[in-house]
Amino acid sequence: MTWIGILLIFAGALMIAQDQQRKRLEQQPARRPVDQRPVNRGEVPPLDERTLCPRCESLLVPRTGPYGEFWGCTSYPDCRYTRNR
Ligand SMILES: [Zn+2]
Repeated sequence: MTWIGILLIFAGALMIAQDQQRKRLEQQPARRPVDQRPVNRGEVPPLDERTLCPRCESLLVPRTGPYGEFWGCTSYPDCRYTRNR
């Protein structure tokens, strides 16, 4: 085996480890303070963009997480529904 082959294997293992960590993080929604009062941030979306949570029919609000923007349920943490924006 060449040294390039060894490097490739090492890089692949590193990527797998990072991917597993990313998935772990995604399974626990953020516990930042901003998530506890998402409505009064002056970021209410226009009426035509508002959507309701399919699980509890609360309003979904735009949020920004470590991996980008998404819709989050205003009943968080009772309801942890999220949807990609
Ligand atoms: Zn909900």
